[in-house]
Amino acid sequence: PIGSGPSVRRLSRGATISYGERKIMVGGGAPVVVQSMTNTDTADAIGTAIQIKDLARAGSELVRITVNNPEAAAAVPAIREQLDKMGIDVPLVGDFHYNGHTLLNDFPECAQALSKYRINPGNVGKGAKRDTQYAQMIEAACRYDKPVRIGVNWGSLDQALLARIMDENALRSQPWLAQAVMYEALVTSAIENAQRAEELGLAADRIILSCKVSGVQDLIAVYRELARRCDYPLHLGLTEAGMGSKGIVASTAALSVLLQEGIGDTIRISLTPEPGGDRTREVIVGQEILQTMGLRKFAPMVIACPGCGRTTSTVFQDLADKIQTYLRDQMPVWKKAYPGVEGMNVAVMGCIVNGPGESKHANIGISLPGTGESPAAPVFIDGEKKLTLRGERIAEEFQAVVLDYVKS
Ligand code: SF4
Repeated sequence: PIGSGPSVRRLSRGATISYGERKIMVGGGAPVVVQSMTNTDTADAIGTAIQIKDLARAGSELVRITVNNPEAAAAVPAIREQLDKMGIDVPLVGDFHYNGHTLLNDFPECAQALSKYRINPGNVGKGAKRDTQYAQMIEAACRYDKPVRIGVNWGSLDQALLARIMDENALRSQPWLAQAVMYEALVTSAIENAQRAEELGLAADRIILSCKVSGVQDLIAVYRELARRCDYPLHLGLTEAGMGSKGIVASTAALSVLLQEGIGDTIRISLTPEPGGDRTREVIVGQEILQTMGLRKFAPMVIACPGCGRTTSTVFQDLADKIQTYLRDQMPVWKKAYPGVEGMNVAVMGCIVNGPGESKHANIGISLPGTGESPAAPVFIDGEKKLTLRGERIAEEFQAVVLDYVKS
């Protein structure tokens, strides 16, 4: 239907990632899953568990942690234990490069505590060792019955495979062909390694693929090709997306095109945090991409006008910000108590030009007094003007009206 988002979703097998009673299906028609990754030292079990808790509470449905050395591997069971104590049952994904075969072998409790492994086929080893080490990791996944993401990355592409594909393309000096070779190498690496994993005994429904690059158009081209050539579920993400608005815009541009085409079963927004910045931002951005595209609902949407010369006070911006924060903070409780609340729309508008109209279209809306207007703020509920707020406490009173509406 017009305006309802992508109507056709790429068919993929479903891979289930579980911890205890918690089961997250990726692909197989399940809603697109939002995931994130920590940036703490995994060996710091307490610090990592706290960040995982924050990411999970923000809505991350899977959390990946780097497992890069014996100290990190030894800390994984302790991290899981800390999370259990905090009542956080988010499945953990272990990110392995270079030494995953050793760590999964030497630290069985780590291999067991993780709910999924990420293997980068470009960082498994070289020559004959590469095949053995790759096989050891897949065998660990089979032994512990864990799903695996085979995560190819342009920055660490298997060089032997790249050389082979370049040799197969004699005209590689042509710039357009060099780009095509790059795409082909990424897709081939993912698919060949998935096939090899199946030959080694990993079930097809335990495999998820990704092919990350940092260019928007490259990512779209690569995933279209990957989606065409296999039916494994796909993890989408623009790698090294960057900082601040650049990272958000680039990720949104790339992922929106693919999601609109029905491609993508789980997403991760890789934002470089500002110094001291909040890691949960990548979760919020991921949720907002899916919600604004009409693919999922996570929290009530606040519709706010940009403001202009008619809103010379900061009352309007303050109220929009307060309501957005309030709604998001309430969601863990509200979601259980008031099912469906995440589909609600709240309009916070700066003046009468578009205020009443936009407020009438929302479940609940307020039109604040712009410059020169009477100091009254009409509140609309389900399309009808129900009351008018005045004075210094408009924000608190409107918040109470929203809460009453949710309860009713
Ligand atoms: Fe400006 Fe009013 Fe439009 Fe908001 S609704 S942008 S305050 S004219």
